[in-house]
Amino acid sequence: MDLYINGEWREARSGARFDVRDPADGSTIDSVADASEVDALDALDAAVAAQAGWAATPPRQRGEILRRAFEAITEQADDFAKLISLEMGKPLAEAKGEVAYGAEFFRWFAEEAVRITGTWLTNPAGGSRLVTMRQPVGPCLLITPWNFPLAMGTRKIGPAIAAGCTMIVKPAELTPLTMLKLAEVLHDVGLPAGVLNVITTHHSPVVSAALMADDRLRKVSFTGSTVVGKILVKQSADKLQRVSMELGGNAPFLVFEDADVDAAVDGAMIAKMRNMGEACTAANRFLVHASVADEFAEKLGARMSALTVGRGQDEGTDVGPLIDDKAVTSVTGLVADAVSDGARLVVGGTTLDGPGHFYPPTVLVDVPAGARINREEIFGPVAPITIFHTDEEALARANDSEYGLASYFYTADLDRALRIAEGLEYGMVGINSGLLSNPAAPFGGMKASGFGREGGFDGIDEYLETKYVGISTS
Ligand code: ADP
Repeated sequence: MDLYINGEWREARSGARFDVRDPADGSTIDSVADASEVDALDALDAAVAAQAGWAATPPRQRGEILRRAFEAITEQADDFAKLISLEMGKPLAEAKGEVAYGAEFFRWFAEEAVRITGTWLTNPAGGSRLVTMRQPVGPCLLITPWNFPLAMGTRKIGPAIAAGCTMIVKPAELTPLTMLKLAEVLHDVGLPAGVLNVITTHHSPVVSAALMADDRLRKVSFTGSTVVGKILVKQSADKLQRVSMELGGNAPFLVFEDADVDAAVDGAMIAKMRNMGEACTAANRFLVHASVADEFAEKLGARMSALTVGRGQDEGTDVGPLIDDKAVTSVTGLVADAVSDGARLVVGGTTLDGPGHFYPPTVLVDVPAGARINREEIFGPVAPITIFHTDEEALARANDSEYGLASYFYTADLDRALRIAEGLEYGMVGINSGLLSNPAAPFGGMKASGFGREGGFDGIDEYLETKYVGISTS
């Protein structure tokens, strides 16, 4: 497939292309255009040219384009799900879940487009009125990762469209096909030329640096690793672009002694295994009270070992392949280090034969608090369990991370629930729940997990500037 620039499909100027592969067997699915800086700047020209007209388009019209796109994605849900599963590897049922979740951002922001408000204040000292209005930031660069090829796009594109911003979307090179299909949908429902431009490239660092070096680009929204997020924040300093950063996580999952252990295991399966653990919200560290640790580990181990590993599109698959070889090597290394630090394998931990990048569901107990697996993002189907004895210890350990995205805990005690929720240094807290993602809620992190919120009432703020107008009165 080609680049989508100014409402048209065209090849990269160089004619270069690259292959997209199926992570289940390494076979080639399709090829896409490989954009260079020149193509990226063509896309920026288009976004800049469309900006004023798009900002002046009535909010209801912007919202209705999103609403129609929501409906079109929903009608084509099976096709989207197959494509997501094919290029990313997740089981079809999960891919369908992503389609519903991803489409919902468009419905939500269709409703938000018409609720962009301002304020009116009488100067406390008298003599004037203080008025604020909110206006689109301007052309945006939206960079998305491979783990949710649709939803990580719609949660940026939805509010940008609603706010009246134009944009260049750069999907991950491992999973560009879903984004190109989404561009087709938006084109078909009448999004004007230039508002959305999609460039696929194997040269993300140079392409995005070229865009960010241009004064006309006003905003960068990125979802991906903390390492790359830091590079982009530094680059944004030159032109002082606005930035939203959804970066890595190291989610703690706490189980207190009064928790319903069966409910905690249900929640753990979702928080850990959604997307094969390849999610920044994935439970990364299980901290379990000593009195329930054996029961929790045994029940979690039984559930994990009952999962079927296979190709995402095959009937009965619960756990698909990891995205690439690098991912398997990284997960294997983290488990090996934990075992050499004294952890014990309850299930899994063995490398599976190829082809494809498979890793089995794995549970580790007796994991030392300082093990590398407790500090780094696993991004795979591995659950390391560590015990604690007091609430203070649990909270201190949970907060002992550079990251601050998602956190989860299970307890039946209201007092404890409030204390722990207030004490967790995380942007999101799940209480007796293993699932936080919801287009109607503000998704985002603290500390090295970044800043800015996507979804909820806050999501559109990332794409709006506040302008203050002072009106003198006599
Ligand atoms: P992951 O480790 O999950 O692959 P990355 O942070 O490497 O996450 O990638 C997330 C997105 O950022 C992808 O679209 C990728 O192409 C892009 N990317 C990677 N490096 C850079 C960079 N230096 N500048 C801009 N985008 C980048």
